[in-house]
Order: sequence, then C-alpha cells, then structure tokens
Amino acid sequence: MRLKVTAVLAAGAAVAAAAIALGSPPSAVAIPPGPGVPPSGPCALHGITDDVAESADTPAGFARSSGVVRALTLFIDFPDARATMPPSVRFAEFFPAATEYFRASSYGRLSYLPIPLFRWIRMSRPLAAYGIQRGTNFDPASDSGYHALSQEIVRAVDPMVDFRAYDVINVIATPNAGPPATRTVLSVTFSGGDMGMQTADGVPFRNASFIWSRQAGLSAFRVLNHENAHSFGLPDLYYTDERPAPPPVGHWDPMDEDWGPSNDFVGWHKWKLGWLSAGQVHCAPPRGTPGEHTLTPIASPDGTKIVVIPTSPHTALVAEARTRGLLDPAVCRPGILLYHVATDIPSGGGPLRIVDGTPHSGGCFQASRYVDPELTDATFRPGQSYTDPASGASVTVLTENPDGTYRIRVTPARA
Ligand SMILES: [Zn+2]
Repeated sequence: MRLKVTAVLAAGAAVAAAAIALGSPPSAVAIPPGPGVPPSGPCALHGITDDVAESADTPAGFARSSGVVRALTLFIDFPDARATMPPSVRFAEFFPAATEYFRASSYGRLSYLPIPLFRWIRMSRPLAAYGIQRGTNFDPASDSGYHALSQEIVRAVDPMVDFRAYDVINVIATPNAGPPATRTVLSVTFSGGDMGMQTADGVPFRNASFIWSRQAGLSAFRVLNHENAHSFGLPDLYYTDERPAPPPVGHWDPMDEDWGPSNDFVGWHKWKLGWLSAGQVHCAPPRGTPGEHTLTPIASPDGTKIVVIPTSPHTALVAEARTRGLLDPAVCRPGILLYHVATDIPSGGGPLRIVDGTPHSGGCFQASRYVDPELTDATFRPGQSYTDPASGASVTVLTENPDGTYRIRVTPARA
C-alpha cells in the first residue's frame, strides 16, 4: 500500500564538529499590524496537494501554524541507551528557545505551547532492534522502524493523554541513543496524511517529529523548529538526494540550513504559514504594469514583507528585504533577496532557489562551517537588477531609505 506519509529529514547530514552560533533566543517581539491570514489571490499559487510543498495552500491533515499550537512532547530511551538526565533537562535544550523562535519569526502570530510529559518512556527493545536509519519510513505493516516505536509510545501514554488536544507531537530521544548529529542526522517528521495508526482517542497519530541526538552550537534547538515546520506543511529546501550541487537556499531559511547561527524563514514561508496580514503581501500578476514597492525588512514585524511576481501557474519570483536582525544575526550584506518558488517541485528537489546577486563571489560570511558561504552575499543592492530570462519578470533595487526600508521597481512577467 502506498502511503501518503512524508519522511522529511533534518538538514545538514554531511557536516561535522563544532558550530559557531551567533545570537541567542529572542525574548520580545513587537505586535504586528492586523491578524495573519492564509494566502489568497492570484499570487497564492497552487501546486502539490498531497505532500509538503511550496504551494501557497496547505492540504488538510497538516497542523495549524498560527494561533495557539499545542505540542505534546514525549521522551524516550532504550534498554541499551538509558537516559542519564531528567527529561526536564533534555526539554530545556529546546524550550523555551524554540517557542521564542516561532513567536519572533511569526511576529507573535504563532503561540507554540509545548506540553511535556516528564517521564522517560522506555522502549522494549535495544535501539538497534528498531532499525532506525536516516530515511527510515513509517510503515504501518512493519514490526520495526518508526511504526514499532510509535506503537509503544502510544500504548504507554494513551491512558493519560488525550491526543485530540494536540496539534503536533514531539518525540525526543535520549541524546545517547544513536549516532551524534554531527555524524548522521536522524531527526525526522511524519506529517500530513493519515499514517495508518490510530490512538484510543479516535484521532490518528500524525504530525509527529522524532528528535535525535544533538546539533552543535547555541541555536541547536532549531532542529525542532525545522521538524515542526514540516508538520505545518513546509518542504525540505536542501537536496535530499545529496546531489553534488551547491545548496539552493543556503542560510536564508532553516528548511535548508538549520545549523550554525540562527536564520529566519523567508517571507514566502511566513505567508504560507499565516504569519502575514493581507496588506503585507504585494502581488504583481503577469501582463500587469510595472510598479514600485517599498519593502520593510523581514526582521521587522510591520510593513510590506514580500512582492510576489508569478512567472507561470506554478512558479513565482519573490522579493523581500533581509537585514541583520534578532533571528538573522549572520546577514552580512543587507539588501533585497530574490528567489524562485516552484509549487510543483517536490520537497528535497529544490522547490525554492535563491538568485545570487554576486555569483562566484565566495560569500561574505565564512565564520561557521554550518553556513554555506556562497549565497550569504546573494542580496541585491541599490542599482542592481535581475530579469528572469524565461518570463521577463524583473526587479530593480532603487534605494535603501534612511528608515531601513527598500524601494524596488517590479516588472511583471510577459504572460
Ligand atoms: Zn526536513
């Protein structure tokens, strides 16, 4: 049976050793203008409907991504990898940092509430007996893998947990179970469709993130933000087939790089997740007249966040302003970030690609081995422009204003 269940992995398997992390979890966020709304209008491009994707609309079955999101948070260990710390200490590796990250990135529109069950749930077999590898799927016909783990977890907690009360599930393993994250990243999320496993409460077990080991550096908690974002419908932006190609997004979004210093989500993701108000997205549909727009940096809650320029029914060129900020401490060339979004390209196949304003430059941030440097100076500065050769859509950066906003000129696609 083919299951519409997505195995989506944490980024960064190929990296090793210690990270330099800049910045620490944010603490306070200004109140944004107006409520967040789901994407709509001619720029809310449709696409893949049965999986995580860049489609503006997220299919049924995924978790809500704005308002209050309740995360059942469980802890597991194994007979051969017994926990050596209280679960509250393991919990503190992720919270409140991950909650604060979501609050800041969503401009206060996502209140992420982790609800921990502070006990180690001891699995019945040694870790190796479950056959957990990078890429291991959730097969409800199997007596091993994530299905076996999940069955034991649900059996252990069903008498005391009402699964109907939660939007997402975190299963956090004792850090001594399995390889270090610097060697192999096992963390994975099974999100979206019914995984073929019911709880006693009449709701399926789904939108579950399994967090293994530890990432390096001060913002190591972001693996949880990355994994939970899959339950909200976001795809992996790094190439999951490990093709010998440079990262398509680099450090401009944690769905590509969630290691090293903190980084914010791109504006397209914030729109998809319901973190922008209606007026914060400008749409420049094909055959429209050229126009000027003022963009307020992503780091700030107010103002216009993105201009979307559709280039085909499933693709768009998107412009946003990126500057150094609370969640973006490593930005070294503030300016206008341009990227192509494709709503019909699957997760891990490059559904979002940054346009490099300074190709082959080597980048401007080399302080962390977890940051691919080439794209760190990809932004466009005043006087620079980019034209998409296929569609004719173009963006020219006119000015950087004294108040930190950017004025751009946008020419819509020809057809
Ligand atoms: Zn992932």
